[in-house]
Amino acid sequence: MAIAGRYQMIPRLKPTLGWQELAALLPPAGEEEIQRFEQAFARLMGQKHAIAFPYGRTGLVLLLEALGLKEREVICPAYTCVVVPHAIVTSGNEPVFVDSQEEDFNMNLDLVPEAITEKTGAIVATSIFGYPVDLDRLDKIRQQHPQIPIIQDCAHSFAAEWKGRPVQQAGDAAIFGSNISKILTSIFGGMVTTDRDDLADKLRQLRKARIQPPTWQKAWRRRLYLAAIYPAFTAPIYGMTNALERSGLLNRFVKYYDEGIIEMPTDYLVGMTGVEAKVGQVQVGRYHDIIANRRQVAEFYDKHLQEIPNFILPPLVEGATYSHYVPRTEHRQQRMQYALKHGVQLGQIIEYCIPQMSAYRDRSGNRFACPVARQMAKTTVNLPVYLAKQGNQALKIVELLSKYNKI
Ligand SMILES: *Cc1c(COP(=O)(O)O)cnc(C)c1O
Repeated sequence: MAIAGRYQMIPRLKPTLGWQELAALLPPAGEEEIQRFEQAFARLMGQKHAIAFPYGRTGLVLLLEALGLKEREVICPAYTCVVVPHAIVTSGNEPVFVDSQEEDFNMNLDLVPEAITEKTGAIVATSIFGYPVDLDRLDKIRQQHPQIPIIQDCAHSFAAEWKGRPVQQAGDAAIFGSNISKILTSIFGGMVTTDRDDLADKLRQLRKARIQPPTWQKAWRRRLYLAAIYPAFTAPIYGMTNALERSGLLNRFVKYYDEGIIEMPTDYLVGMTGVEAKVGQVQVGRYHDIIANRRQVAEFYDKHLQEIPNFILPPLVEGATYSHYVPRTEHRQQRMQYALKHGVQLGQIIEYCIPQMSAYRDRSGNRFACPVARQMAKTTVNLPVYLAKQGNQALKIVELLSKYNKI
């Protein structure tokens, strides 16, 4: 393939898209599609209610409001996506950052009790990179503090299981994000799931009051967006993802934050469009294949990358869904450059420790040292984990990573 030669590259992320998603872009896409997506999603997650929002972070803002929280503290990981504390601040509450644990990148739940005060309004438990949060330890906190609601952040996990228990069900509610970089995508979008009828009612009321109906212009912008990036993610010309990132089209997922500013997207209160909900429904149908595939690739990496010096592999954990496969290395930049030169784009996922960011450095919720999160921010690198089952791309990556140490 002549044109592929120079541009062929394995991108760091890639949604699993087929012709069905393209077909879903065709009109009509009425409001009833939102409800269909919600029902399909609730069924997939084994929950009574799913409520769709334009972004996962919008869902979190309104969920905190629905829980009646204002000027309270919300405990969350120091090592998570920065949109989480942004949403907490936007809701009128204060994020309190807790350090991570070495084993699986998740918030160290042993440190949560000392972060709890009478101001604590909620705990956001995240299953980062698809590693299920330890529900046994979380249950203990819940027993000691039954009045504090637990929010499961499942934006990475999409139904990871801790010893057979789906994490999204182990709390008052769970939030999900489904932009193009997530395990399932609805172009943009987010969900809140819950088994509590009262909370679901309140969230639907709040959504009605606070979220503007999407315009037809937004629906067409979303269609164009997916149509524009579709070839980049499906054609053999993988280098296009790199080009797209440079052009800015993908920038929302690359440099989607500014160190010093706490902000939400300008359209965060404009509702999910029907067309996004249609794409989301197709993706729900692909869920089991997507996860099975990621688990296979993670196992493949685990088996073949053991011997590389200065390259700490992430754990294989029963029930993990591997939104990302994240080794740690002291030579992050060098490894990334070497890989890129040889046609593999490695990612830098969460290359920050939130309490160190200038926007959060001086806030009252920045009370604890977070040495583990700081270290992770400096050393994590993520390998493509969406790859096709055949494994020759995964093999290429393994070979490249092994070769690096010999140069
Ligand atoms: C992506 C993400 C969210 C939600 O993101 P939105 O872009 O607002 O949909 C929440 N938490 C984590 C950990 C995430 O990675």
